[in-house]
Amino acid sequence: MSECIFCNIIAGKIPAEKIYEDERFVAFRDIRPLYRVHLLIVPKEHLASVNEVGETACGSLDGIWLVARKVAERAGVAETGYRLAVNTGRDAGQVVMHFHMHLLAGETLRPL
Ligand code: AMP
Ligand code: ZN
Repeated sequence: MSECIFCNIIAGKIPAEKIYEDERFVAFRDIRPLYRVHLLIVPKEHLASVNEVGETACGSLDGIWLVARKVAERAGVAETGYRLAVNTGRDAGQVVMHFHMHLLAGETLRPL
């Protein structure tokens, strides 16, 4: 088993409540939701954080905005609104070192 929890979810070795999947991305419910809707959008290719994104191309992250839009629509929050957030590194509180984008929604979010 991989040491990376999200790689294990992607491989189907750890269960998750998936709400979207295509060839390159998966989205599932956060196990400790901060809001009524709290989803994680994750590239299937392992990438630790934004710090591993290349200069000329986003590599495994190409297309993530369209996926975020589809996930928001599927979750029924596209019209009511949502926040997309990416923690990078210690000071931002990143604990899972496999890139993921949080989609937060379903109620009024605390201002940043
Ligand atoms: P971050 O602080 O940006 O690294 O956020 C990691 C997120 O992953 C947290 O919100 C956790 O609740 C969530 N998380 C950790 N393990 C799991 C899991 N097995 N299934 C779903 N979400 C998880
Ligand atoms: Zn991983």
